Amino acid sequence: MDNISRRRFFKGGLGLGAAAFLFGKARPARAQTRGLVPVIVTDHANQTGQNAVKEAFSILAKGGRALDAVEKGTNIIEVDPEDTSVGYGGLPNADGVVQLDSSIMDGRTYSAGAVASLEGIKTPSSVARLVMEKTDHVLLVGPGALRFAKSYGFKEEDLMTEKSRNFYLRWRENLNKDDDWGPPDHLRKPDEKVAGLYDGIEHHTGTTNVLAVDSNGDIAGITSTSGLAWKIPGRVGDSPIIGAGLYVDNEVGAAGATGRGEDVIKSCASYFIVAQMRSGRSPQQACEDALQMILDKYKKVNAEFVPGEKFVALNKKGEYGCASMPGNRKPQMAVMTGKGLVIHEGTAFGS
Ligand code: ASP
Repeated sequence: MDNISRRRFFKGGLGLGAAAFLFGKARPARAQTRGLVPVIVTDHANQTGQNAVKEAFSILAKGGRALDAVEKGTNIIEVDPEDTSVGYGGLPNADGVVQLDSSIMDGRTYSAGAVASLEGIKTPSSVARLVMEKTDHVLLVGPGALRFAKSYGFKEEDLMTEKSRNFYLRWRENLNKDDDWGPPDHLRKPDEKVAGLYDGIEHHTGTTNVLAVDSNGDIAGITSTSGLAWKIPGRVGDSPIIGAGLYVDNEVGAAGATGRGEDVIKSCASYFIVAQMRSGRSPQQACEDALQMILDKYKKVNAEFVPGEKFVALNKKGEYGCASMPGNRKPQMAVMTGKGLVIHEGTAFGS
């Protein structure tokens, strides 16, 4: 059977009863709306993140879907020009080009979509949603993803702000004292640095995760990022990889990751966290379990090496948690429920 006819077989081969079960009618009874549900959380505990969850919560408060809420919240963070780690104003790759990665997962329909190395579109999470809803694929990359976005009317724009361009130019001038970037040699003091590489940058790493449970008990999540600053052009991190930067299971909960994507990909961290929650661990414990699992792997190879990651998680009951390493600053997340906004402090490994 070729791919197309196999796809037709699956699409056409479901009996009506099976289709009704999969697409709604026979879905399990409404979840108990105990305690905190509906709820929306983000790792972005700054002002923009707080605004994002407050605005997005208005969808949940009216009985709207978790999927719509996480998209609305993420879009607010993506278009913030001050945020140098996500969407518009995100720091570029080594060529000075902003390449965005994002994924979305809808627990209710067990669907996922993602884009990677997408250039010129401020809201990659909305493009990921269209991949999920309008195609039979999960991941589109690079120029194909851009053409796809433009076919749905997205506007191609310059994603660099004055702030992100200045950071990039400073990075390029500092990169190598033997190259020709920077002031002419006769005007340059020996070993002069333009300025500290990351001075004034709020996030030179960073990503946003937005996770929600709606009043029906359905769960959705998004991860969106400009990726590691100055990355090798074409490098794709964990954010658009389902199971790594994001995972949602409608029976259990959702998890998202920030930080060194290479670790998150190798450890399938978000899937691991959701699996831990399935086995009874709280969101907080599950995030800590994932950090410990990654540390244990490196201990066997290089005991000195402590990678940098932050995980956030939310379960179906509306309980949440976050954990990060290394460092002594406790990670935070913004949480919005019917009781209002809370900034939750998680645990920092190494503190
Ligand atoms: N996880 C992102 C990536 O590896 C970067 C970050 O969160 O700092 O692309």
